[in-house]
Amino acid sequence: MTQRALIVGLGIGGMSAAIALKRQGWTPVIIERAPERRKGGYFIGLRDEGKNAASALGVLDVMEKRTPDNIRFWDVRKDGTRRRIADLTQETNAPIAVLRGDIEEALWHGIEGQVDVRFSTVPSAIVNGDTQAQVTLRTDGGEETTEDYDLVIGADGVRSTVRKLVFGPDEAFFHSVGTMLCAFPLARPVEGFKANDGLMVADVKRTLTVFPLEGRPSTALFSYRTRNPERASRKDLLSTLRQIFADLDVDGIISNALEDLATTDDFFFDSVQMVKMSCWSKGRVLLLGDSAWCLTLYSGMGASAGMLGGQVLGEALAACPHDINGALQMFEAQMRPFVRKHQRFIALRSQLFVPSNRVSLWGRRVLWQILLRSRKYLFCENK
Ligand SMILES: Cc1cc2nc3c(=O)[nH]c(=O)nc-3n(C[C@H](O)[C@H](O)[C@H](O)COP(=O)(O)OP(=O)(O)OC[C@H]3O[C@@H](n4cnc5c(N)ncnc54)[C@H](O)[C@@H]3O)c2cc1C
Repeated sequence: MTQRALIVGLGIGGMSAAIALKRQGWTPVIIERAPERRKGGYFIGLRDEGKNAASALGVLDVMEKRTPDNIRFWDVRKDGTRRRIADLTQETNAPIAVLRGDIEEALWHGIEGQVDVRFSTVPSAIVNGDTQAQVTLRTDGGEETTEDYDLVIGADGVRSTVRKLVFGPDEAFFHSVGTMLCAFPLARPVEGFKANDGLMVADVKRTLTVFPLEGRPSTALFSYRTRNPERASRKDLLSTLRQIFADLDVDGIISNALEDLATTDDFFFDSVQMVKMSCWSKGRVLLLGDSAWCLTLYSGMGASAGMLGGQVLGEALAACPHDINGALQMFEAQMRPFVRKHQRFIALRSQLFVPSNRVSLWGRRVLWQILLRSRKYLFCENK
């Protein structure tokens, strides 16, 4: 009899796990809280680790790539002046630009019609045993059913329900970075800039970054530091951002972006939390993706880690086909060094996005300039 896995969450982590399990002869079932598959989302920079994992999962070739030709990035100062700075193609291990929806669309190709996907369904209880887990599933309509699985995978994001039900409350695993984020697609290009231009309007504790994407609207990313992000009001987003960014509205860039925010439902707004856990599995329940290790956007590795997690789980199950506990231990041993490495520098990397003081604002500007110059130098040498 084939082994059955329940995957909670139809995101990057969940779909990657489903592809990998299916390859190992498992029967995955995915439940998703939303009533339908989400599309769109925000800019994601996919680095080699993510590209390799996507390739191993067989989805890299069908993934839309959106790094604009002749991409340029600008540092826009409060006084209205702008300076060219390095863009993402000038970083080491340069990422390709995609939309979160592009990764999910590509992964969807790998499971569509082959995996039982149930929308508007959440887990309401999990009885975790040594050889099976019994899960109560609840639909939007309030119907409940109980099903047994050989493995339950919580791929339900940073505020994971599976983690709460089986491992403990969020507070036990959250490590706040001290910032809030709001990401959404701009309805129009930023006035005075080209469609392939990216820009940063940064000051101490606040930044608006605009990431250009080929063939799709640029992503606007507002981030700001606040003393207690979990307590920050999520109700009046527009007036909160208006107030925090009031004196940074260079050439109307901020107010135009906020006008665009007012017209879209496709926005992300949350505090930034790392998730740190000493173990990602308990009995027959495993966490994977943001639910297990949220690396935050500052690592530039969250999406990559989700796909890698799926790939590594598949490899571990292939190596231990009759020993699920052994496979889960192997998964942990393979993923732990990667996650530890990228979590270590998140606080520091957050300074590149939202400097917490003047020194870091200055340091960040110098760094982007150096990167730009070193690229120019290399370019001249190659000529
Ligand atoms: C603004 C921003 C920029 C980013 N930039 C980058 C980047 O440049 N590079 C990079 O690699 N990463 C980046 N990331 C991180 C990356 O987007 C995430 O790490 C990745 O999407 C996490 O995937 P996931 O599947 O683990 O979780 P999620 O994407 O959160 O998916 C979880 C899924 O589970 C569903 N769900 C939640 N609760 C339940 C429930 N109770 N029952 C059923 N379903 C449920 C949700 O609806 C969702 O579909 C960025 C993140 C943000 C916010």
